[in-house]
Amino acid sequence: MRIVLLPGDGIGPEIAAATHNVLRAASERFQLNVQIEEHAVGHASLQKFGATVRPGLLEIVRNADGLILGPTATADFKDEGSGEINPSKYFRKNLDLFANLRPARTYPGMRNAFGTFDLVVVRENTEGFYADRNMEQGNSELLVTPDVVVSLRRITRHCCERIAHAACKLATKRRKHLTIVHKANVLKIGDGMFLDICREIARGYPGLAVDDILVDAMMAHVVRQPDRFDVIVATNMFGDILSDLTAELSGSLGLGGSLNVGAEHAMAQAAHGSAPDIAGQDVANPISLILSTALLLAWHGERRGDAKFETAAAAIESAVAIAMQQGQATKDVGGHLGTVAAGRAIAEILQSGTAMR
Ligand code: NAD
Repeated sequence: MRIVLLPGDGIGPEIAAATHNVLRAASERFQLNVQIEEHAVGHASLQKFGATVRPGLLEIVRNADGLILGPTATADFKDEGSGEINPSKYFRKNLDLFANLRPARTYPGMRNAFGTFDLVVVRENTEGFYADRNMEQGNSELLVTPDVVVSLRRITRHCCERIAHAACKLATKRRKHLTIVHKANVLKIGDGMFLDICREIARGYPGLAVDDILVDAMMAHVVRQPDRFDVIVATNMFGDILSDLTAELSGSLGLGGSLNVGAEHAMAQAAHGSAPDIAGQDVANPISLILSTALLLAWHGERRGDAKFETAAAAIESAVAIAMQQGQATKDVGGHLGTVAAGRAIAEILQSGTAMR
């Protein structure tokens, strides 16, 4: 399996290095023969090549079996004409990675004020309120006069259908419960269509329990009782916001793993950003990107019909759980280790074989 690793900005290089070690350990233990190819992205690439994503990188990624993208300083990148491309948008759009799967779960041994839970937010990834990706050309945020801005949201039947299928398939493999999150009481046409399509598609998956909740009320429900949810499907921005909340409810935004999936490609990516407030201090939690990488291995294994990749993915998840239970984790989740040591602890648990399921 050939994997392209793009470390990114801020805490990106730190969590990418920890992820690299864990991936190497998993590859050795399960004889995956993973080859990891590292390239610059974000500020490092802008400095070196004049663009946050250099020409030719897309082809390298297309020819690989998977991509791991560290967080990048998106807020800094304002002018595409000067090479300041949002790498996350760039790969999601160019590889048509329409489904963003963001699991959130609690771990034994960790105190959690919200009880134990295990859910996945399935977020549409290619349209919605994201001005930089929902137009064929140009940007859908318009400065009409210096004091008037219009931001357009795009919702299409095609994108609703494919995200609904992705969510239903996942729910079928899990606890068979799908929750549709929307704002169809106000966005009657756009979210109305999203809601109708999700319900219609779900009818084709026998045995699936389906409900729906308005996005504002959802913020209360998911904090009050996160364990009542299994798979939650939402449009792009609602899913983005909700999944940061569910990651934090599970203990820390630093636990927020995420996989962006299309028909042909997949990209592992932490749910959080480049966290400039803690960059370079060896305090960032690497688990988000490590869990995202496990999701990438499982995706590859399923696609290729090669069970050892799914076994390795399960072992990484189990090693993370063991490390957390032993308190071998970063401060944000109550541990005492730095980023490097937390990553090493997970790699060592994997190598020792105690994480085998
Ligand atoms: P952020 O997600 O980077 O950080 C929010 C808070 O969570 C901060 O307090 C941070 O320290 C903490 N945090 C995040 N990741 C952590 C980790 N692994 N371990 C421990 N704590 C962690 O959000 P922000 O500070 O608003 O954004 C910073 C930059 O990241 C901005 O430029 C933003 O545009 C960009 N961003 C990028 C992505 C991406 O690359 N996919 C996603 C979101 C934001």
